[in-house]
Amino acid sequence: MNVYDGWRIVAMLDARGMTRTEDVSDADIIILNTCAVRAKATDKVYSALGRIRLVKKPNALMGIVGCVARESGADAFKRVPDLNFVLGPQSYHKLPEILNDPNTRLFNIELSGLEKFDEMPQMEKSPLVTYVPIQEGCNHCCTYCIVPYTRGREISRSFVDCIRDVEQAAKNGAVEICFLGQNVNGYKYTDENGKTYRLSDLIRTAAKIDTVKRIRFTSSYPTEMTDDLIDMFATEPKLLPFLNMPIQSGSPNVLKRMNRPYDLNQYMDIVRKLKLARNDIQISSDFIVGFPGETDDDFEQTLQIARTIKYINSYSFKYSPRPHTAAAIMPDQIPENIKSKRLAILDAELNEIQRAFNESCVDKTLTCLCEGPDKTGRHLVYRTPYMQQCIVARPDGEPKQLCDIVITAANKASLRGKIAD
Ligand code: SAH
Repeated sequence: MNVYDGWRIVAMLDARGMTRTEDVSDADIIILNTCAVRAKATDKVYSALGRIRLVKKPNALMGIVGCVARESGADAFKRVPDLNFVLGPQSYHKLPEILNDPNTRLFNIELSGLEKFDEMPQMEKSPLVTYVPIQEGCNHCCTYCIVPYTRGREISRSFVDCIRDVEQAAKNGAVEICFLGQNVNGYKYTDENGKTYRLSDLIRTAAKIDTVKRIRFTSSYPTEMTDDLIDMFATEPKLLPFLNMPIQSGSPNVLKRMNRPYDLNQYMDIVRKLKLARNDIQISSDFIVGFPGETDDDFEQTLQIARTIKYINSYSFKYSPRPHTAAAIMPDQIPENIKSKRLAILDAELNEIQRAFNESCVDKTLTCLCEGPDKTGRHLVYRTPYMQQCIVARPDGEPKQLCDIVITAANKASLRGKIAD
């Protein structure tokens, strides 16, 4: 979502005739698009601001947008007095106001819902993989998560607006569409005639566009994987057989305290249904270790579920207490050294599963999307349907955007392959 927000900000400034620079000391405006999900991300923003203020041009405008702006509020100006603007994740479309009047301070952390989507200019170029946001915010209120505070309550964009964005992206060169939302499979929009649209309707409609070849979505909440959406994996070949469906923990006790009140049987049932819909489907997860009160036994159950489901491409984090969240004030906070030890054990397990999956791909033919040449220029980097990187010797002439690749070798980080005849 932040990558997408970044694109929109760049497009907005491009439209005003500004250009990008790699050199901070050369910039007239410096914008940090920020993430507040863990304390480390927030800390990095403030240390970056400390470095930037020493090297920037004296008159350059400097500010933050996104979730740290919303998290810090007006305190941001106290911490860094030379900030010119502090704009939350739903008010960055107001950024041009600071260009019109550089002597004011711009502050807006309101949750204005979908306003930004309507206010900003359409993008003129689309990358091969284009993100299309379909909803913002989250109503789940997991006790560790700051997102409901920073991005607000869940709100879905209109079906027509979403499809218009897909069509526009396809016309401008997108081959893969990734639907985005904090709770993307909770997408629900009822139009003026009372017709309700779900994510499955968006996928079905987007798939009808000839030049759209691949479709995926992120991030999903497990119990919102409704049957209509699961069916899409059976009926819509353009929907990639890969799904991020975070479980967070394998312990029912921890899940309860996280306010993720699904039971593990329910989760496993969804996985079974997905595999029935498409037997080559793979699932990835996010994990949090060291949540308050997590015992060795709870952690062991997390390892167990990772082995059982054989998650690929997963993310794992040490629990980080966040302001505005219930878990931050729970008793039994876990010491940092235990969190680090558990994270290392889980990461080793996840890497092993990933390596085994990558090796199982050798000799298979996968249809992959070209991301362009590698650093040496001698190879092409392709992306498999499971988001693995696959390196291929560069053929003469223009590379094909989408082509069949025979996988010839694998390690834990990537694959090698050759273009099928
Ligand atoms: N569904 C959200 C999740 C974003 S955060 C979205 O798409 O916007 C991504 C992951 O960060 C979560 O799935 C969770 O595993 C992790 N996370 C969230 N809050 C955290 C915290 N306080 N400490 C550690 N990890 C956290």
